[in-house]
This record gives sequence, C-alpha cells and structure tokens, in this order.
Amino acid sequence: MSLRLHNTLTRSVEAFVPSAPPQVGLYCCGPTVYDFGHVGNFRTFVFADLVRRVLAFNGMQVTHVMNVTDVEDKILRRLRETGLALRAFTDPYIEAFLADLDVLRCLRPHHLPRATDHIGDMIRLIGRLMERGIAYQAADGSVYFNIERYQAAERWPGCACRYGQLVHIDPGQQRQTGRVSADEYDKDHVADFALWKARVPEDGDVFWDSPWGQGRPGWHIECSAMSMALLGDSFDIHLGGEDLAFPHHEDEIAQSEGAGGLRGDLHGRKLPFVRHWLHGAHLLVEGRKMSKSLGNYFTVRDLLGRGFSGREVRFLLLSAHYRETFNFTLAGLEGARSALGRLDECLGKLRERAALAAGPAPSPSPGLPEAFKEAINDDLNVSRAWGAVFDWIREQNRALASGDLTPAAAAAELAAFASIDAVLAIAPAPATQDETPAHVVALAAERVAAKKARDFARADALRAEIRSMGWVVEDTPSGPKLKRA
Ligand code: AMP
Ligand code: ZN
Repeated sequence: MSLRLHNTLTRSVEAFVPSAPPQVGLYCCGPTVYDFGHVGNFRTFVFADLVRRVLAFNGMQVTHVMNVTDVEDKILRRLRETGLALRAFTDPYIEAFLADLDVLRCLRPHHLPRATDHIGDMIRLIGRLMERGIAYQAADGSVYFNIERYQAAERWPGCACRYGQLVHIDPGQQRQTGRVSADEYDKDHVADFALWKARVPEDGDVFWDSPWGQGRPGWHIECSAMSMALLGDSFDIHLGGEDLAFPHHEDEIAQSEGAGGLRGDLHGRKLPFVRHWLHGAHLLVEGRKMSKSLGNYFTVRDLLGRGFSGREVRFLLLSAHYRETFNFTLAGLEGARSALGRLDECLGKLRERAALAAGPAPSPSPGLPEAFKEAINDDLNVSRAWGAVFDWIREQNRALASGDLTPAAAAAELAAFASIDAVLAIAPAPATQDETPAHVVALAAERVAAKKARDFARADALRAEIRSMGWVVEDTPSGPKLKRA
C-alpha cells in the first residue's frame, strides 16, 4: 500500500504524493524555549519523527525543519522574572531540548531555525502584507493582519483568501471582536492578530528596528517566515499538535498566502502554502490534563529520574494512534518495559542462532516488513504495526524453540527487523563499557541549564541524582565531564 495520511484541510485520509518526488519538505512547529519540554510536547515531536521516518521508509528524501520559538510572550515574561538576557535564558533550554530528542531517539531535524535569526524575513513578509493593504499599523504602534481585507483581496492561484479553511470556521458569521495582540487566543475569538508588536517598556532590551518602529514579531509570523525561508513558498507537510490548528496554523496560512510567499511574486504563486496538514492529538497524564499543581506534570528528565529509559518512553508514545488522545501513565511505562523485554529476549536468541551462519549477509525475510508497511502506510496505524511486530516475535520464538530456524534464516529475520526499526527506532542499543547512558547525559545537560539559570539548589539536586545512578560530574575548564563513580 502506498502512503496515506489524514489531511486536516480536507478532514480525510488521502494518498500522500509529494509535489516534487522524491523530495519532501516537512515543517514541524518546534518548542517554545521557556522551560523544559514535557512529555506532551514530546508526544508531538516523536510523532514528527515517526512521520519523517515513514516518509524515508517509502523512499522519499525528507528535508525536516523544526523551528525554535525563542521570542514570544511567555519567554518575555520569564526574562522579566529572571533578569537574564534573551539568549542566556533560551540557550540552555535549546540544549536541553536537543538532549531530550536524542534520548527519545528522534532524528535531529535537518534545520532548527531560531526565530531571532529570521527577523529580516518576518519584516519582509509583513512589508508585503502592508503593501497589499491587508495589514495595518494601529494607534498602539503594532501591526495587525486585517482579516476582512484579506477575505476581500484579489484571489490568485494558490490563495483561497479564505480565513477559516483549516479549522472550518466562517469569520463572516462570527462576531468580530476587534484585535488581539496576544500570541494565543481562543477558538471563538476570530480577530485581527498581531504581526509586529510595538516595543513596550516591559520588553526590556528585546526589540528590533523595523519600518514600523522598534518592536518584535508575533508568534504566527515567525513560522510563516521560517518555513518558507527553508522550504520555499509552497511545501508538502506542516505538522503540529492539535492545539496549534487554531489560531496558529490558520494565521500562518493567511499570512503566507496573503503575502504571496516570501520570495515569489503574487501572480507567480501556483500552489497553496501547505498541501498537507497533520495534527497530533494531545496527551493526558493519568487521565487528566497535565498541570504542575496536580503533580502529573512530567518532563522527559523527570521520567528518566524515575528510572525509565528514553527507549521505554518512546515505545509508549508510539503505542497510540496520533489522532487519538493518549492517556500516559506510569503503569503504561512499566508495560512498555515488559513488552520491550520480550522483544529483547527474542532478538537475543535470534542473534545467537544467526552467529552460526556462514556466508554473506542475507537479504531480509519479507514477511515482517510487508505486514508492517501495510499497517504504517495506512495513516500510521501503529496498533496494527505493533501487532505485526509481536506476531513476528511469537513466530520466531516458536521456530527457535522447535529448532527449525536455521542460522541463515535467523539472520534474514534479524535483517527484516532492522529494516522496520529504521521507522520504530526501538531496538536495544548495543551497550559498550564506557558509553555514558543517555539519561545520565540528559541530567548533566539539565544541571548545566540549572546553573546557567542560577538555580544552584536544583543543580546540586541533579548532581546527587546523577551520583545515585553511579556517575559523578566533574566541572572542568572545558565544561562538565561525566565519570563512573
Ligand atoms: P510549545 O512548546 O508549547 O510551543 O509546544 C510544542 C508542541 O507541543 C506543539 O506542537 C504543541 O501542540 C505540542 N503540545 C503541547 N501540549 C501537548 C500535549 N499535552 N500533548 C501533545 N502535544 C502537546
Ligand atoms: Zn508554528
């Protein structure tokens, strides 16, 4: 079966065909770096990693872009609280985010643009919207997108000029509630949104010059500018958590198509901003929305601190279909551990048998990869895909126990598993004596972040946690080093 994916634009599962095969442009809204990512955020990032790997499994060449939102309302609030400069505050969280991605075995995106490195592109995009009369500067000095003028604008191929196409709302039927300058707002709040926010004293020294005075970009224009700068004015897949469909993604479409793109001229535009929108459902923890006060708020580091591995967290996050709300529980992580134990035992026995094989490496046995592909290409049906894996484990165990499996056949089965593991990335890591475990590295990165944020109590607690895992941190002039205790 060729790859089929749900498209939020059409509300249906469609064949996914890139516009210029085999190349695929994939953009994912990345983290807002004001804190450590929680397991909900990482559900979305693991989903993005799965999409990327499935595209590659289908022979496509993916360019994966994930932005880092490093200027935004919440970040500015934290800067006021901590007194830190913008990059001094955000850098440690970017490092921590990358360490967490590694721990969860997510391939690093090919490009990780930071919003603050693309202010020029954002200004250019806002300028085009101003020229077209679909943006205006208000009395507060900020620049807003004019939804009414956009809807009335001249249409051209690749721009429906219809606000509400992604989330299927009709702004004409909604009460217009004026303007919003906040980056996030409610679904029933259809209003002109800020493209450029005029500098206010609370912004401190976070501002840039623009034709409309000093200020900073709104969150939505950041993703329009960065995605088109790296993937072109029209690209194949845009992905994010379901909460981003409105207003964030709806606003991205309006800005990008309304401006006629970042490079192209209006009439050269032939295709929509994005052809295929993918949204992942949210994650609940122990049945409830995560919140610090409920005590069910877990960062990836919290889970590692409880003794779970990134591999176990990845397995659990990959066990549910991306369009279903997923209830993450610690009991689920225990279940992940025992399921992976069964896999490891089977792979171990296959390896022992295969070690007796002579001759060249065999080609993969076709059964598992075929069943797996059939399932995963059906809008990423992971339940069926895991079903295929566990059926295969049972079959191999039977064959191993009966003594029927020849060393060459065992090697062919291992090669089959390796081919699907290019998607799942769940095989046990070959352990080497001096390799520092990923969760210890992640804790060390968190300690660096805590020190930079001058949270020394947290840094000390992390040192103790690392010690309890059998490792010591030594601070050296070239940075912290990890050694076995
Ligand atoms: P943020 O760092 O808040 O901008 O969020 C980064 C990504 O995580 C976005 O794609 C969000 O949609 C996603 N996200 C936030 N909370 C959850 C959750 N509870 N479950 C799944 N994804 C989430
Ligand atoms: Zn975005």
